[in-house]
Amino acid sequence: MRDEYQACQGYLLLADISGYTEFLTGTELEHAQAIIHELTTLVRERLVPPMKFVKVEGDAIFCYADGAVFRDAERFIELVEVCYFDFSNRLLNMARNTTCPCSACAAIGSLDLKFVCHYGIFVTDTEAGGVDLAGADVILVHRLLKNTVTESTGVKAYALLTDACLQHLPQALDLPRHEEHYESFGVTTGGVHDLKPALAAMRDARRH
Ligand SMILES: [Zn+2]
Repeated sequence: MRDEYQACQGYLLLADISGYTEFLTGTELEHAQAIIHELTTLVRERLVPPMKFVKVEGDAIFCYADGAVFRDAERFIELVEVCYFDFSNRLLNMARNTTCPCSACAAIGSLDLKFVCHYGIFVTDTEAGGVDLAGADVILVHRLLKNTVTESTGVKAYALLTDACLQHLPQALDLPRHEEHYESFGVTTGGVHDLKPALAAMRDARRH
């Protein structure tokens, strides 16, 4: 066996545009794709750096960071909140400024954003033009995209942080508890950070 892979530890983050499937299937494809492209580009720019970009997966941005990147929880949460703030403002601007009557442009406001964050072990695989990540924790963070947060809490825009992630953020965050069950992984526990109140607070702060 060649020793070309080295296991690393760090944060795994997926930012996922919710409402995407309905948006693509129910509307004019060209404008829908242009809107999704603009939004995923914005999200990527807000997260990278300090995160490292892996890839766009349809409606989601996958990125990661070395364990040492975030020295405190505030900074990690702020990164996610500012990303959500800019995403929401862009949505508003797009909805306000479009004069296009097509169903994609009319449905911009139905889109939203959620984040799933995990901390674990992975190997990086450098391929032509980019890097890919592999490992059980990489699979788990992707499974976390299909979760019961909205049905069990009513919260639509959120960051779901696993305990593995929370434990590596030096300041403990006091978030409402949540758990998920996935085949092969058993119970995964974590906390849910509701982004709507954070958005309202940031809008309030900008106004004053
Ligand atoms: Zn349109």
